[in-house]
Amino acid sequence: MACFLCGLESESTDHLFLNCCWSWKLWKRCMKWWEVSSCHNSKLPEWSKGWQGLCLSANSRRVWSSLFSALVWKIWETRNKFLFENKEIYLGLAEDTVKSRTAWWFKHLGKGSEIPVTSLMLNVNDLCVDPPNISKLTSKA
Ligand SMILES: [Zn+2]
Repeated sequence: MACFLCGLESESTDHLFLNCCWSWKLWKRCMKWWEVSSCHNSKLPEWSKGWQGLCLSANSRRVWSSLFSALVWKIWETRNKFLFENKEIYLGLAEDTVKSRTAWWFKHLGKGSEIPVTSLMLNVNDLCVDPPNISKLTSKA
């Protein structure tokens, strides 16, 4: 079965969540919040392990983990919108949803609980005080 997001390749877990051009654009847009750019590992389990294992403060790690979950959730949700409702989701809209969910989870985790979610969304780069060391995550140039 062809991927519902790009229509170019067969759908697989690795393709849908990581290697698909649409999905990867979303990852890149969200990593850019922290001025991070990277090539990715082609296997989702390895990418996930590397993502979680980056050297970060506990606070930043919570934000970074929330971002990972929000991204995977949004990609799955977008795929299902295409499949079951024939609805196209624009990257900017998907990014806003990821940002909103990341901000809500950050707030729920107890950090920044006095700050309104709208402010957290506008200043999402402030949530991660020490940017992830992305060089630990990449395996190919
Ligand atoms: Zn695809």
